[in-house]
Amino acid sequence: MNGRPPAPPEVAPAAPGCVAGAVHSWDTSVGVDGPGTRFVVFLAGCPLRCRYCHSPDTWYGRSGRRRTVDEMVTLATRYRRFIQVAGGGVTVSGGEPLLQPAFTGELLRRCHDLGLHTALDTSGFLGVRADDALLDATDLVLLDVKAGNPQTYRRVTGTGRLAPTLRFAQRLADRGTPMWIRYVLVPGLTDAVDEVERVADIAAGLATVQRVEVLPFHRLGAHKYAELGLTFPLADTEPPDADLLARVRGQFTARGLTVT
Ligand code: SF4
Repeated sequence: MNGRPPAPPEVAPAAPGCVAGAVHSWDTSVGVDGPGTRFVVFLAGCPLRCRYCHSPDTWYGRSGRRRTVDEMVTLATRYRRFIQVAGGGVTVSGGEPLLQPAFTGELLRRCHDLGLHTALDTSGFLGVRADDALLDATDLVLLDVKAGNPQTYRRVTGTGRLAPTLRFAQRLADRGTPMWIRYVLVPGLTDAVDEVERVADIAAGLATVQRVEVLPFHRLGAHKYAELGLTFPLADTEPPDADLLARVRGQFTARGLTVT
């Protein structure tokens, strides 16, 4: 996709508590979308087209169904005891949840008010759409820093710019919002020593980064491209081997960062 991000697919709110949005799906997860066992809401629509994306089925707003915040909070509440005992919470993911900031903000606020730990999983590209109220209701941001060089960022995302993510990251650090930085390691795309050095420098410069997750590229979403009639750009790329993974993780730990 080229050019500007598409318009948000959200539906205008009718009343507080009845905000509606395009929801792709929801699920529970353990240890991959924030701490503990989590109820994860995947919103539909994303302005980026990352070459390694494993969820191209979430790219378009029309790939979601209209759901209200009430519906999603009711679902989350069913898991409340389970996720709280397991030290978990609720994560709003995508797609890109900040493409629907009113829905995302209201969902986070409602869950937060219920005493649930809340996480926002975002690329940060649309961070400017997250107002202070949304961030006040967010206990943790899972922030994808996809590259350290603007040129690499564009090559990875197809359309995005790095600067908005960096501005958002700095804003989070300035306001004291905890962050987990995510970096997808793709051989031949994001594995250059200099590239990783830049991302490590960025992470080390943000006071509220609690950990860095180096995520090895995989091809588990390849079948989705085939089902959608799309070409998976990295069909011939192998996942990183153990040596490469260790080298990259070492570049982060060398700066005193906690790496998983
Ligand atoms: S930001 Fe996430 S959902 Fe969007 S294209 Fe990139 S990897 Fe896929």
